[in-house]
Amino acid sequence: MKTIDSIAAELEGYDPQALSATTVSEFLSRLVEPVTNQEEVGIFQALGRVLAHDVVSPISVPPHDNSAMDGYAFDGAQLAPQAPLNLKVVGTALAGKAWQGLVAPGECVKIMTGAVMPTGLDTVVPQEFVTRAPHPGPLPQAQDGKSGGEYITIPAGLLQTGDNRRKLGEDLLQGQPALQKGELLMPAALGLLASLGIEKIQVWRKLRVAYFSTGDEILSLGEAPREGAVFDSNRYTVFGLLTRLGCEVIDLGVVRDEPALLEAAFVRAAAEADAIITSGGVSVGEADYTKAMMKKLGDVAFWKIAMRPGRPMAVGRILKDKLTSSPRDISASSYQNNSNPAASGAAVLFGLPGNPVAVMVTFLAFVRPALLQMMGSKSDAPPLLKARSLEAIRKKPGRTEYQRGTVSTAPDGSLQVKTTGNQGSGVLSSMVQANGLIVLHHTQGNVALGDEVDVMMFEGAI
Ligand code: AMP
Ligand code: MG
Repeated sequence: MKTIDSIAAELEGYDPQALSATTVSEFLSRLVEPVTNQEEVGIFQALGRVLAHDVVSPISVPPHDNSAMDGYAFDGAQLAPQAPLNLKVVGTALAGKAWQGLVAPGECVKIMTGAVMPTGLDTVVPQEFVTRAPHPGPLPQAQDGKSGGEYITIPAGLLQTGDNRRKLGEDLLQGQPALQKGELLMPAALGLLASLGIEKIQVWRKLRVAYFSTGDEILSLGEAPREGAVFDSNRYTVFGLLTRLGCEVIDLGVVRDEPALLEAAFVRAAAEADAIITSGGVSVGEADYTKAMMKKLGDVAFWKIAMRPGRPMAVGRILKDKLTSSPRDISASSYQNNSNPAASGAAVLFGLPGNPVAVMVTFLAFVRPALLQMMGSKSDAPPLLKARSLEAIRKKPGRTEYQRGTVSTAPDGSLQVKTTGNQGSGVLSSMVQANGLIVLHHTQGNVALGDEVDVMMFEGAI
């Protein structure tokens, strides 16, 4: 476990008073470590979990050559580029009910989508492309079990050998890697596992994240409004962000600015969680005890990040061996329960600023990738998209700005983006209106109308 100082020493140009967004990301990737405990879950419980092992395909999918269309299966060697092909229909192959007979030259088998290709046949003509005719003469005797009675004509030049046939193992061949350790399991992966006949898998245990809001002016829901106070919104956005990420959440409420209460909250959070998210109280010149308590209980750096919104942030660990006092409201069992895997070592601390938009932006930019790393996920940040700005945007080089934007499709099919009005870091309604963040990078300057900008879409991230 590296200390804050040792990580800082590894990073060139580390300056806690002016940290670039990229240095913050680099710092956090060195600070956090993935969980080490696994559990077995069934497919229905696996959604959003992180796979703890590689999955090698135990079977081939599909397990046999089969038809991709409803039509007629035949031997493609008979196709001639200039001439139509006449074939006699000698049987029917259904999905789940293969046709067992042998097919002679000049014959074909009516076949349904998904049905096993009869032996020796490699090509399917979709039924809508053939002309059908009854047998011209008297019906042949069906001595060999072949039904007879109908002929089809395939127009010249329509098909090539192998058309409309799905090959054995074209999705996955037995022994091929199917899913990688660290895969965040989405609906397609659940289906893929099921297609391999796999009912249970090992996933990393869920990450436990405790969070609380700080500030004497912050009201819990249900509390009577009072002069100068605002309702707590951060706990609710953080709850939503963590839940969508698949974390187990531990809500520690609003913690008033009193050392004993703050200490109790940190002690409980560190005992029960892998990570702690706080909001508020980390600004420069903040006249409260939050920062002092973080310093007392942990190995913590206080940063000014060259970004907007979200300049102040505290990052580090709340260490167990500094947790000397055991406040009254901590249950002894949860504090001393060393069998709790989260209780070993220390909890990672993300001390976010108080402003509601700053909380969400710093979460998306830094906390989310760090938590994914802790969850054992190998997934990268979602790709930034390019969109044309529908307005000029003022931007100073030397900091990263995240503006709330509404991305839409322009008449020519490309993406365009407009900012959502007031960009104040307390204006949470702008986050609701927006469907993404316009990311204006560190060195970037003013944006002119029509310039391309990077956007981070919310869908999938929050
Ligand atoms: P701070 O970072 O503590 O200086 O807070 C910055 C601003 O965010 C102040 O206006 C606070 O009132 C506001 N704020 C802090 N915490 C919360 C919260 N949990 N919910 C809503 N607003 C908050
Ligand atoms: Mg405050």
